[in-house]
Amino acid sequence: MMPPRFPSIPLFKVFMSPKEQLLPRLTEVLYSGQISEGPPVAEFERQFARFVDQPDSLSFYSGTAALHTAIALAGVAPGDEVISTAMTAEPTNLAILHAGGSVVWGDVDPCNGNIDPLSVESMITPRTRAIVAVHYGGVPVSLTRLSEVAARWGIPVIEDAAHALGAKYGGKLIGAHSRFVMYSLQAIKHMTTVDGGMLICRDPEDGIRGRRFRWFGMDRAATRTELDISEIGYKYHMNNVNAVIGQVQLENIAPVIAKHVENGKWMDGALKNLDGLRLCTWDAEAQPSYWFYTLLAERRDDLAKALSSRGIGCSLAHKRNDRHSLFKRSRRELPGLDLFYSRMLHIPCGWWVTREDREYIADAIKRGW
Ligand SMILES: *Cc1c(COP(=O)(O)O)cnc(C)c1O
Repeated sequence: MMPPRFPSIPLFKVFMSPKEQLLPRLTEVLYSGQISEGPPVAEFERQFARFVDQPDSLSFYSGTAALHTAIALAGVAPGDEVISTAMTAEPTNLAILHAGGSVVWGDVDPCNGNIDPLSVESMITPRTRAIVAVHYGGVPVSLTRLSEVAARWGIPVIEDAAHALGAKYGGKLIGAHSRFVMYSLQAIKHMTTVDGGMLICRDPEDGIRGRRFRWFGMDRAATRTELDISEIGYKYHMNNVNAVIGQVQLENIAPVIAKHVENGKWMDGALKNLDGLRLCTWDAEAQPSYWFYTLLAERRDDLAKALSSRGIGCSLAHKRNDRHSLFKRSRRELPGLDLFYSRMLHIPCGWWVTREDREYIADAIKRGW
């Protein structure tokens, strides 16, 4: 067989902890006789909270479940509006529908694809019950300006931080700034538990309600025959097996995230001032976690073809959500999104991208398209 002419660098890759570390712990929990939600889940929640520098965290079987919970706890009910972004993975906006809310699109900043606080403010009505903000690709939203808008109107902010584990804003890790912050632990996020999601609640009362919401509306500590279900709940909790994977992953994840950030910053330097190419820009307060690296290119489809033919995984990753027929009632003009979506292209910058790989990627781009 001919050796490949070029490397093959995927856009996403799952990081899993070393076997020697993971498998003994996994075997232990699998045969412990307790595989549903028990003490390992509570321990993982404490460890995750510590990792993002917060007093508490709630685990879920998915980020979507965590997001639905946050949206419901924010009080969103049928007839309520939630302002959100179309530039995201679909679960962000499906979770609004799960809670019975209707989606109102805020436009995005064409420099980075993040929801624009000015546009959010222009869409607020008496029926607006929550604002959902996504740190797209790991670039933190302008949280200072968004929080000002939210506070002025008394509307809670829910951050979808699925791409932003390890990102900071104003010197603090994402998790510290809003009433609710959701992380996804799905396979291709910075850190995975195979599947899972986390929710940081600023208000301990939300934490208590969230723990009931994720388990049929019941308090797990109470006697089953004596408790009363007063609010609807779902089967959204994490189990011990995913939690133990999470515990081991947490022991290894800091250098993984650091590698994303190091590669991302390197790209920031290597790719600036090229003809036909712009790089994303963001608030001075923001420190991205570089889940992937976003280029803003002229003749973007040609660039995508050129990079693919040179073995570099690249794609749009997400379809703008307003183009789904499910959201047709929310349609409106979004000029910022039009501009961003016509130019964006995501290329790899994760922990698997070696120094040679990133040189190769930068050279491939410089060769033109
Ligand atoms: C992955 C993702 C989610 C959903 O998380 P799951 O854990 O897969 O349910 C939500 N929002 C964004 C932006 C995501 O990328």
